[in-house]
Parts: sequence; C-alpha cells; structure tokens
Amino acid sequence: MDNYIVSARKYRPDNFESVVGQDSITKTLKNSIKTNQLAQAYLFCGPRGVGKTTCARIFAKTINCSNVTADFEACNECESCVAFNKLRSLNIHELDAASNNSVDDIRNLIDQVRIPPQLGSYSVYIIDEVHMLSSAAFNAFLKTLEEPPKHVVFILATTEKHKIIPTILSRCQIFDFNRIGVEVIRERLEFVAEKENISAEHDALQIIAQKADGAMRDALSIFDQIVSFSGKDITYQSTIKNLNVLDYEIYFNITNAFLSGDYSSALLIFDDVIKKGFEPSYFITGLASHFRDLLICKDPGTIDLLEVGKKIKEKYLEHAQLCSVAFLFKSIEIANKADLNYKTSQNKRLLIELALLSICNIDSKALSENSTASPQAQQAKPSTTVEQTKTAVDQETASEKPETIINATQQPEKAAEVKETPKEEETKEPNKNETTSTNLIVETPKQESSKEVSDKKATYTGISIKNLSESNNTKVEIDSSGEPKISYSHIGTDGFDDAKLKYVWEKYAESKRENPRLYSFLLAHLPEKNNENQYVIVVESNLIKEKLDAELNETLKFLKTELNNRDFELSYIIGETKQEKTFKSDQEKLEDMIKENPEVKKLRDQLNLDFE
Ligand SMILES: [Zn+2]
Repeated sequence: MDNYIVSARKYRPDNFESVVGQDSITKTLKNSIKTNQLAQAYLFCGPRGVGKTTCARIFAKTINCSNVTADFEACNECESCVAFNKLRSLNIHELDAASNNSVDDIRNLIDQVRIPPQLGSYSVYIIDEVHMLSSAAFNAFLKTLEEPPKHVVFILATTEKHKIIPTILSRCQIFDFNRIGVEVIRERLEFVAEKENISAEHDALQIIAQKADGAMRDALSIFDQIVSFSGKDITYQSTIKNLNVLDYEIYFNITNAFLSGDYSSALLIFDDVIKKGFEPSYFITGLASHFRDLLICKDPGTIDLLEVGKKIKEKYLEHAQLCSVAFLFKSIEIANKADLNYKTSQNKRLLIELALLSICNIDSKALSENSTASPQAQQAKPSTTVEQTKTAVDQETASEKPETIINATQQPEKAAEVKETPKEEETKEPNKNETTSTNLIVETPKQESSKEVSDKKATYTGISIKNLSESNNTKVEIDSSGEPKISYSHIGTDGFDDAKLKYVWEKYAESKRENPRLYSFLLAHLPEKNNENQYVIVVESNLIKEKLDAELNETLKFLKTELNNRDFELSYIIGETKQEKTFKSDQEKLEDMIKENPEVKKLRDQLNLDFE
C-alpha cells in the first residue's frame, strides 16, 4: 500500500489505443495522421473527465513523433516523444481559458503562435474551456484561427459546445466526446485493480463506475479513494459505505413494504436511512431511480438501459415481476413530485414520509378503483389509518358491483391511458397476484363490458375511475404542501375556498364536454354560497332547472368527492342570473350593455368605437 500512486495519473492513457470509451474519435484522429490530413483547428466537445485533454495530448505527441508506429501511434522513444512524456515538450501549449480569458491572454498566445517549433513539426495549442473566453478575446483569436501559420494546430476543448460562437465552430473540425458507459468504466477499473494487485468485487466496481457518471477520470479517483480507505480488498459493502451510497437492498426492502401496503415498515426503513446520515432528498431521488430501473426491467426492449452489476440485475428482474407497470408509473410520479417540492417544503421529512405513504397506498387505491361503488359507505366510516382503509376496500372488493363496470365504460379516455403502457406479462396473468396486479382488474371488465352497458352511459355511475385517480393527484398536491392527509378513499369534511370550488366546478363542466351546450352553461354558472356548505346556482328557466335537477345526484357526488367534503350541498333556483357575464367575449358584453341601455349603441356609433 505504501506509496500508492494516484491511478488517474498513472493510468492516464498515453496512446490512442489506451483511450477508453472514445473509439470512433481515436480512430478518426489516427486516420487523419495516416492520410496526413490534419486540420488546423479541432474542437473537442463533451462532458468533463471523458478524455478530451488526454486525446489532445496524445494527438499532439503523435503528430510530432519522428518515428510513428505502423499503427499510427507515437513511438515513445524519439526525442520529441520523450520530451512529451516528461512533460517538457515545447511543442505543446495549454491554456486554461477559464482562468486566462482576457484579450491580453489571447494576445500573448497569438504572439507565441508565430514562433515555429524547434523540434518536431507542429506546435499544438490546447485551449481548455474555450467557451469561457471573453467576447473580446474571442474576436482577437478569430483572425489567428482563420489563418494560422502552417506549423500550428489548435485544439479547443469545451464542456459547453452551445456557447461556442458559429464563426469558431465553422473553422473547426468538431469531435463530440461521449460520456463513457458504466460497463466500459467498470472494465477499465477491473484492469487497473488487476495491475495494482487489488481484489475488488464486481458490484463494488460497478458502483464506482456508476458514481463516476461517465467520467473515467472521476472513476479512477473514486477508485483511489476506496483503495486508501479499505486497502487491497474492495468489497461492495465498504464501497457503498465509503461513497455514502444507499444500498440497493434498502430500496428493494422498501419496495416490498410498498407492495404489501406495510406503511410502518416503509417509515422505519426511511428512518433508518436518515439515521445513517443520508439526506431525505437523496433517498427520494434514489427511490425514483429505483422505480425507473424496475420499470425498465418490465420491457425486454429497454432492459439494456439498466446499468447495474450482474447480481443486482438479477434481483431487479426478479423484483420487476412483482410490480405492475401502473404501480411503477404512479410511484415514479409520486417520488418525483416529492423531489420537486423538496426545496420549498417546510417539513422535509414529513414531505418524504407522505410520499412513502402515498406509494404504500397505491395498491389499495387500485383496489378501490375497482370498487368505487359506494362512496357513502366509505363516507360513513372515515378510516383514520391506512390499514383500516385497506380493510374497508378489501371488503368492498369482495362483492363485485355492476356499477363498477359502468364506471369503467364511462371513462374511455382513462382506459386508453392505462392500456397504452406496454405490459404483456400482466395481461396474461391479471389475477395471479392479488396484491400487485390489482389495477388490471379495473382494466379487464372495461373491455368486456363496454358494449353491453354503453346504453346506460347516461345514467349516474358513482365515482368514476377518472375522478378517483384525479383526486389521487389532488392528494399528492396536498401532500406536498405539507398538510398531513393520509387516507382519501372516503369523503371527508374538508374546507374549501372559492378558488377550489371554481376549479372543481370547471372540472365537472369539463366532464360534460360532449354536450357543448351544457358545458358552456356550467362554465357560465358558478355555484354561489347561500349558507355554510349550501350552494345555489341561479338558472333562467324551469326547463333548465329540471334538466339540471335530473343530474343533481351525479353532480353532487362529483363535487363532494372532488372537494372531499361530504357536507357540500347544491341546489338550482330560478331567478335572474348574475354570473352570466363571466365567460362572455367583449363583443357579447357590449351586446348585453346595448340591450340594457340602447344609448350605448348610439355612443358607440357616434364615436366610431370598435374592438381592436
Ligand atoms: Zn516518437
């Protein structure tokens, strides 16, 4: 262990062959040497740590080598190569534009450019982070770039290609360096470990490779860090401990808890994570990625996107079978939403805990989607814990109610939504696993029964699937604002303000879109407060009132559910409407004014007023 040399330096590639993960670029560069068609300016773009500067140096060395090998690599023996390898070569000039970005810096460089090299044939100027040059410096540089002396090769490197002005771009041969794949990095680390006589577990190197995020340089320095921490024996456990990475196991365990609706285990696992010193936000983003990885495993087409070690991959495949696609979608959505709200949340821990509870609840919700029949029953026993809710839901699922089926047909758009997701395995085994594929039970009757019940479509159908799922959304919103609300499968007695009512009302109107007349009528008539929880809508005629009254039950159920307020009441009364004007165009408003007061028209005509 004594005198361990930093791998990033020791294993820095010194010829094209040893450059990792940029095969097409090294090939092209070699080819240009072979055909002796060197450009005078190159632009190397790509993320940090992927080998831009390394390639630039190798290229500079190779084009100055007096004895290039048959494979068009530098010989490493000639005077120039030796000078390069000892970092003494005068043929290479590196300028870090991040710290030397003034016009004067560039002028110095331009002055140097004129001097021909004493050894070798080319002076290579590497300008790193070239996008950092000031615009004045850019302009000063442009002329030299346009007509550089024959012996000069510029290699500009940048992590931000989009910041390079077109006049520069057009003068350069551009190379795009890729982020290096996890697999490639891992293999390289294996190679380094072997050379250094270090035994390393496959999954440990995999974690390092992942952590490096496509940058070889980072991977090697993380590797060094682990070596100095755990000696010549690198294990998966020591690696995750040292890197402060959460064990996959934790995510698998919590997923198990989610699937069985075991919210207390989920909370305890999360507590454990926090006790280990992890940030809640780190945990939740990791959880979202975990669900994403599980989702990827559901489809053979995307399985290659999974970048984990062999053993863990098996575990993912196995676990993915337990989760339905719908569950994963919803979970990702919840986790992602919590992540988005994390920064602004006043109670970050609670925010994450609520997200976990919501995920725990997904399956029971899927069940309750199947048995949306009796909101009243749910109303009657507002359960306070998730468990109680689950039991209630289970009981309801036991007896299949025809209403459910009608619900399903009434929401064809939702059905389409669910069906879009690719999930062959699931449709094959809709009922095999009661806990995990429950959402499919919702789907199946939909297709079968859509025809036979289509004529019933107009009648009231209870809480629709769409409504439920939307109220789930509402729930997450409420969650994220930090208001503690756990169970939503029943209707509560929430307060609401005008804005909320308006929102819900418009949503209801939206559900009547297929009837344009009703739709616009609803939009134009907002419920007005009469008494506490008592709302009225003033309608113009008895005919309209009758029509609306016929649907009042449906309307009420929708509103109560959406508002989560079972006390909400609405009635229609005949009278002069006040709200008509809300949704009128300017032209319509004017016509109304003219109707009320003909003088307005005169005034308008006289003054020749018109809408623009
Ligand atoms: Zn040489």
